[in-house]
Amino acid sequence: MKDGKRHFEVMEDECVGCNLCAVVCPVPECISLRDLAPGEKDLRTGLLVSDKYANWTTHANNPMRTVDPA
Ligand code: SF4
Repeated sequence: MKDGKRHFEVMEDECVGCNLCAVVCPVPECISLRDLAPGEKDLRTGLLVSDKYANWTTHANNPMRTVDPA
């Protein structure tokens, strides 16, 4: 709740970029995700984006990841 109304926002410090919210959201074009460029700072983690392939399963915010994000 925010100002007495239902409120939704992404908790970016926990987001792994899985895209599920964009897939299930009933409001067209309400949520969008974009690719991060190699060398760009991931504001969710403070880490620089590697040039190696990665996805939500390897994201530093994913507690179940099986690889070191650094
Ligand atoms: S992309 Fe995935 S982890 Fe991030 S906010 Fe959407 S559902 Fe949550």
